[in-house]
Amino acid sequence: MSQYDYDLFVVGGGSGGVRAGRMAASKGARVGLAEESRMGGTCVIRGCIPKKLFVYASHFSDDFELARSFGWTVGETSFHWPTLVANKNKEISRLEGLYLNAVEGAGGNVFYERATLEDAHTLRLSSGRVVTADKILIATGGRPSRDLGGAEGVEHCITSHEVFDLLEMPKRIVIAGGGYIAVEFAHIFHGLGVETTLVYRGPKVLRGFDDDLRDALHASMARRGLKVLTNSVFTGIERRGSELRVQTSRGETLAADQVMLAIGREPNSEGLGLERAGVRTGMRGRIEVDEYSRTNIENIYAVGDVTDRLALTPVAIHEAMCFVKTAFDGVPSRPDHELVPTAVFSAPEIGTVGLTEAQALACGHAIDVYRSTFRPLRLTLAEAGDRTMMKLIVDQKTDRVLGCHIFGPDAAEIVQLVAVALKMGATKAQFDSTIALHPSAAEELVTMRMKSYSKSP
Ligand code: FAD
Ligand code: NDP
Repeated sequence: MSQYDYDLFVVGGGSGGVRAGRMAASKGARVGLAEESRMGGTCVIRGCIPKKLFVYASHFSDDFELARSFGWTVGETSFHWPTLVANKNKEISRLEGLYLNAVEGAGGNVFYERATLEDAHTLRLSSGRVVTADKILIATGGRPSRDLGGAEGVEHCITSHEVFDLLEMPKRIVIAGGGYIAVEFAHIFHGLGVETTLVYRGPKVLRGFDDDLRDALHASMARRGLKVLTNSVFTGIERRGSELRVQTSRGETLAADQVMLAIGREPNSEGLGLERAGVRTGMRGRIEVDEYSRTNIENIYAVGDVTDRLALTPVAIHEAMCFVKTAFDGVPSRPDHELVPTAVFSAPEIGTVGLTEAQALACGHAIDVYRSTFRPLRLTLAEAGDRTMMKLIVDQKTDRVLGCHIFGPDAAEIVQLVAVALKMGATKAQFDSTIALHPSAAEELVTMRMKSYSKSP
């Protein structure tokens, strides 16, 4: 019998923690898990899932418009925010139950409490209860940054934490940031009919994405009337009655009902008692781990956003599964962070996997680029809407496809499967030898015969 209460204690019931807890418990380990808020974590409660539901809601405005070109007469439409929020809440409560059952059903104990470390094998729960564990997994995720570099009035702003449960939909919103969350919420609110302004500190949003995607997105936002102020930051936010006023570094004053910060996320490592256990943290408080997700303390591991590697749900889950293989199956398993597909749920969406053109050149590849832009069939009758952009980056020496970037409807769905091909090392010749599926947008990826241009580092 072990000297500890648990073989594994997991701190955090989000994507990473739940997967690790469930897997370890199903292998017979005695597992405890503490969650201070709701099971499911960011992804389920205030991230991916509610976000995608809101994205679906926001697409109807485009769809109603498009329906006319197919002969439909759409009567007067209206949107009721409280219904969306209530239905979303019902769905996330259902998912929360599944996450709880996943751990308990496998034999784990779930404590709805905050946990902090007392030493390398001891945790204190907020009820005062003390538990001990042979191994500890920290999967406490992250939280939205509110660091506007000293600008006054930050307390008036909401973040992705609050946005899903606003009692009323704002008529006007100003959003700071130019990353995933800023771009997605700018499109959600704009699609729902909210007067939306995005304020980004650089020249082009989605830094780090392929430039053609960024250009296509900016052109689309301009076409849609989604206002984007670039090279601009908030210098202050003040409340005047029910109205908020944002001052920017470019001298603009923007009036709004809500102001949202989407300026990155910080690892949730504060106040966890890491110093008592001797666990080392790094930049912005992220927990430092080795390639097996092990901290500097032998029996303490960390996965997911708190380690600030790639902040995506499937990555947290993958890291958790590798942890269980390493720590409980005796099979040391390194998480693989290569060729991770990702999407930005703008309208239309962005799907991307592999190297951007700039990254491929920076890595020393001489490349051929195949790029195609076209109006999706669904939009041809309306003769309006965004053109789709598809781009393949091909290594001249090996013919391998190094990257695939899509701006257009269903880009996320398409790129998920392109990622399989890239993972297998597919060459452009193999893409070309695949018969097209017609009529589809994805067929373009296997019919781009003429290279658009070549570049060398
Ligand atoms: P989390 O899911 O954040 O879970 C951590 C849990 O730990 C939380 O439930 C927290 O309450 C709990 N906790 C923290 N401290 C303690 C403590 N001391 N004691 C007990 N419990 C504690 N990723 C995608 O792949 N696709 C998307 O479309 C996507 N959309 C997103 C949209 C938004 C608005 C946001 C914010 C994120 C989105 N993400 C998306 C990112 C994704 O949600 C995260 O990468 C993922 O949830 C990380 O999982 P995790 O297990 O590391 O942490
Ligand atoms: P991101 O890191 O994607 O973007 C942060 C943005 O804020 C950047 O544009 C950054 O600018 C800007 N910024 C940072 N600091 C400041 C500041 N002080 N003032 C003004 N602007 C600032 O973070 P998000 O919060 O959007 O999302 C966090 C993570 O969650 C993402 O990186 C992603 O991993 C995950 N996520 C994934 C989603 C998906 O898969 N669809 C959806 C939502 C989130 P700059 O680029 O110039 O540094």
